[in-house]
Amino acid sequence: MTSGGYPLQLCLDGRRVVVVGAGRVAARRVPPLIEVGADVLVVAPDTTALPREVAAAVTIQPRTYAGSNDLAGAWLVHACTDDPAVNERVAADAEAARVWCVRADDASRSAARVPAVGRSDDVTVAVTTGGDPRRASALRDAVLSALDTGVLPAAALRHHRPRAGGGSVALVGGGPGSPGLLTVRGRRLLAEADVVVTDRLGPRELLDALAPGVEVIDAGKTGYRGGMDQQTINEVLIERAQAGHRVVRLKGGDPFVFGRGGEEALACVEAGVSVEVVPGVTSAVAVPACAGIPVTHRGVSRGFAVLSASPGSGVDWSALAGVGAETLVLLMGLARLGPIAAELVAGGRPGSTPVAVIAAGTTPEEHVVVGVLDDIAARAGEAGIGTPALVVVGEVVRLREQLAGQPREALAAGRQPA
Ligand code: SAH
Repeated sequence: MTSGGYPLQLCLDGRRVVVVGAGRVAARRVPPLIEVGADVLVVAPDTTALPREVAAAVTIQPRTYAGSNDLAGAWLVHACTDDPAVNERVAADAEAARVWCVRADDASRSAARVPAVGRSDDVTVAVTTGGDPRRASALRDAVLSALDTGVLPAAALRHHRPRAGGGSVALVGGGPGSPGLLTVRGRRLLAEADVVVTDRLGPRELLDALAPGVEVIDAGKTGYRGGMDQQTINEVLIERAQAGHRVVRLKGGDPFVFGRGGEEALACVEAGVSVEVVPGVTSAVAVPACAGIPVTHRGVSRGFAVLSASPGSGVDWSALAGVGAETLVLLMGLARLGPIAAELVAGGRPGSTPVAVIAAGTTPEEHVVVGVLDDIAARAGEAGIGTPALVVVGEVVRLREQLAGQPREALAAGRQPA
């Protein structure tokens, strides 16, 4: 082939394709032909290299190539014997019969060539390069990986057509706020979504990258104030999925850590809607980490408890005080910081126990206030710390003095170093 070649996709369903040879190359070429429904004839004296299920799905002529009669009725021919002279003959016979022939041994002398092919859902990626199959394969893999990770938003190139077989809901943990802390699976589902139902928490920046046709519904829930009520959110998820859409419920942190994700998943199951849960990086661990506080540390804390400190949580704080050296992480606790600190002291935790309040952790707006149980409420008040915020109680807070001195980027995994 002298010029660049003309890319084309063939519908081979029920059409005869002749494969001459049954070695390693043929074993690679035949399965994709079977997959698209081609009527495959393999001409080769020895077909033992073909896997049994492949051999069972084709017609076999167990002999050497006998000439143009073998090509009768063929739309396409693959010449993949290990003998260049035979391939040459097959190619010449095919040319005379005006049948396209792919020569495995010499692409430059081949009338047709096979691109490097891969699939990701309904997308087929086919790459050709200037005669360098390894480069083509590498490029194909790069495109597939970009599709799989959502770096390349497949949805942007797709009509938002309702799916006949019904839609689905994915409860995706968005992580604590930094876009880099969303999982690869979450990012892919987001890139494919028809409808995204968001929270006030989580990586909202990622919404800007959604394709124009994607419906974004802001459930705007934060703590116990305002936003759409849970029943309405459940109904929206179910209704959109039943209308055939791929719905992503993007939640802050992990969907099952105080996220009411369990309720949303149950509502979907009860409604017969397919639901997938994609865990997220919970703020309970990641926000302290990125602020230089490991929730456990050898010799300092053997464990940690994550608790809701919202008014209705009913936690017995003075009982928790007795848990000793362990770390407490309190979510939704800023408003009741003073009373909770006092109860922990009343229960036996020293008033000198270090405490950190971290707001908007992992984001550029991160704000940290450090104190001790006796003074943290006053310090947080003076600093005017905002929400969302969590509270870390325990000796591990002291490690921040050393760890927070490190470059911020080294701790905040989601951000790129400058
Ligand atoms: N499912 C979430 C938690 C939801 S409860 C998760 O796994 O992270 C909401 C609480 O999480 C907030 O009130 C706050 O206490 C905490 N929170 C979430 N994101 C935060 C952040 N970026 N910085 C500090 N606290 C955060």
